[in-house]
Amino acid sequence: TTHRIQDRSLESRDGLPELGSAAIPSVPGRFRNTPDTDMSTPANQAWADAITHRLRGSRIGVDEAQQIRVESIEGVDQVLTRALEAQKEWAALPAAKRAAVLRRVARVLAEHRAELLEVAASETGKTLEQGDPEISEAIDFALYYADQAEKLEADPETVFTPRRLTLVTPPWNFPIAIPTGSMLAPLVTGSAVVMKPAPQARRCGAYLGRLLHEAGVPGGVLTVIDVPEDETGKALITDERVDQLILTGAYETAELFASWRPDLRILAETSGKNAIVVTPHADLDLAAKDVAASAFGHAGQKCSAASLVIAVGSVARSRRFMAQLADAVLSLHVGEPTDATVQMGPVIEPPGEKLAAGLTELGEGETWLSRPRQLDQEGRLFTPGVREGVKEGSAFHLTEYFGPVLGIMHAPTLEDAVRMQNGTAFGLTAGLHSLDPAEIAWWTENVEAGNLYVNRGITGAIVERQSFGGWKRSAIGKTAKAGGPNYLVHLMDAADRERDA
Ligand code: GLU
Repeated sequence: TTHRIQDRSLESRDGLPELGSAAIPSVPGRFRNTPDTDMSTPANQAWADAITHRLRGSRIGVDEAQQIRVESIEGVDQVLTRALEAQKEWAALPAAKRAAVLRRVARVLAEHRAELLEVAASETGKTLEQGDPEISEAIDFALYYADQAEKLEADPETVFTPRRLTLVTPPWNFPIAIPTGSMLAPLVTGSAVVMKPAPQARRCGAYLGRLLHEAGVPGGVLTVIDVPEDETGKALITDERVDQLILTGAYETAELFASWRPDLRILAETSGKNAIVVTPHADLDLAAKDVAASAFGHAGQKCSAASLVIAVGSVARSRRFMAQLADAVLSLHVGEPTDATVQMGPVIEPPGEKLAAGLTELGEGETWLSRPRQLDQEGRLFTPGVREGVKEGSAFHLTEYFGPVLGIMHAPTLEDAVRMQNGTAFGLTAGLHSLDPAEIAWWTENVEAGNLYVNRGITGAIVERQSFGGWKRSAIGKTAKAGGPNYLVHLMDAADRERDA
């Protein structure tokens, strides 16, 4: 990721950017993306080594203190009552005041980049290489939504009214960026927020809650709660005072919640089965590198990940492409995040039935280009798997496995490739590698997905430049794209301003 890199040695010991640092530009109204850490400089390597050193040591100093454990339906009731009480004052503030809080959140997140990497690594196994851009994205969300909220309030035509109480249920795979964006967006509109972290990312959620409060988000306006996923959890969603839900997770979960609450406004980013098409007009070296990174970053545990590559025409027979791909995949450094140079970390838990099948069972006509090997006792560390000969309509073509396994499909023409790419139930990300303008134009018109990437990997959407959200079963209801200009609009109700005659 060369788009934004920052030398951490420019930052003072306590993490505050020194004079002239671009870490937090924070000129209200003039959004700029926050730079990632340039891990190639000695100073930043030392910074990363210090983090991994702490990771190898005893438990880190990030606790669950800010998380409220709610075990009963009465407990849920109390949290919601308190949130609604606090929301009145919060919503009455001018947008500029709430935006100022978000800009402070951005600063606090930047100051705690190391701790955030540490808690994500220790709790979810995220490598530093994968975690670092996530912190930048979280900061970007804060600064971007702050600007957007001010713009909307100044709209001469429309009055925007916030929802009162937003429930946020983020996933464990982006345990920093997604909860942060999903909390801050409704907060800056004037809604109260109750956030229930994923069970695998409780400490990340609790720590984020603490940082947001530290930055000035009032107590009752934001509550991070730990609630069992039973009748108590259901009471949270079915309580009619909750008037909005922001969910990232499996399509089935979103569908279930929608069936419990048909009246609920739901913004959901759900599953994906994403492919990169490579045509004979591609830069094949670049394509191989981008496919490997998109398939195996965070061990494939991204909704946006590439789990298919569709080789068009002669690419399917190109020894050069296959050899480059095999090289890129086999040279990935697999290991625990306690080593700062690791590129592919563990999966979140030993594979369930579906992923286990993806890692072991071949469909008709399929062969392993690289068979996944288990490297540890527990069953969380695997070498990357690549299977060839995946057929249109097969299990591997249509199923989301959410792990380190990639399938190669062959298509005679670009039209065939796009039919395969569109042939799944989902529509989140899609990639094309081609240097031919006519192919690019045709593909862009015909592919069905929320995020289209040409000659680039298909993960790691950047706030403002690539607002993120899916079509078909990659969303529920209307697609609302996070990190884009319309996201806050989706979170509010709009009315025309009355005009004097
Ligand atoms: N926004 C992330 C990306 O562009 C993916 C989020 C997800 O996996 O839910 O890679």
